[in-house]
Amino acid sequence: MNAAPHLITRHLGALELLTAEYGAARVVFSTRAGGVSRGPYAQLNLGLSVGDDPAVVLHNRGLLCEALALGLDELVIPGQVHGTRVAVIGERERGRGARSRDDVIHDTDGLVTAVPRVALVTSFADCVPVFVVGETATGALVIALAHAGWRGMLAGVVGTLVQTVATLGVPRAALVGPSIGPCCFAAADDVADQFAQHFGAEVVLRESDEAAVDLWRCAAIDLERRGVAPAAIVNPRLCTSCDARFFSHRRDRGLTGRQVAIAWLADGDSEGSGT
Ligand SMILES: [Zn+2]
Repeated sequence: MNAAPHLITRHLGALELLTAEYGAARVVFSTRAGGVSRGPYAQLNLGLSVGDDPAVVLHNRGLLCEALALGLDELVIPGQVHGTRVAVIGERERGRGARSRDDVIHDTDGLVTAVPRVALVTSFADCVPVFVVGETATGALVIALAHAGWRGMLAGVVGTLVQTVATLGVPRAALVGPSIGPCCFAAADDVADQFAQHFGAEVVLRESDEAAVDLWRCAAIDLERRGVAPAAIVNPRLCTSCDARFFSHRRDRGLTGRQVAIAWLADGDSEGSGT
């Protein structure tokens, strides 16, 4: 099983979701469409840390779970800090962070699991979601998600994610989700210089006065350095700042909601992402 996961758009009720499958592995990216949040958080805000009404956010999370035939208490949500800590998640952590920020997986930007119906969730509004799927010696799958903002990308969270997958199986394929593209990620010169040092000059674009950093290329470089074949890395090149379907921290000047990446291993009787 070497085919890279291919992203397709699904309309499930009022929700518009981007979904991909790799064997029993499912990965879904939400858009703004279909939720009940209002104002700057309209519509499907899934983040509890942005100032939206928590009851409304939980309602939105319920809508997403319903569309995906998952239980709210099957989600696992980390407290993201733009760091590099990656946590291996098992049965015991199922449900953490799903209903409250109090019991999130603290100070964590990457999640890995091999347990069916443990739904890993990471939250975004420009930062780069990276999904990785690996395969164990017995053919079972391991899935992983990282939240890679520019600080986490520079610090190496994508490489750490793949390394953690590699402790359980062989990394096979990856998908880089909707996030701020090189078209919109202008960066100060000192930041751009750090990226050039870590990833090579190719990730810094200097077509105007201001430098721009290609975080998508950075993610691919770290995936390739850790052994994921270039042909097994999919990037639909959806820029959250250009594409009004998504929340964008930069475009919306900091006052906005969060979309999520959600990944899980379907069990035998799951409907998965609606196929
Ligand atoms: Zn853009």
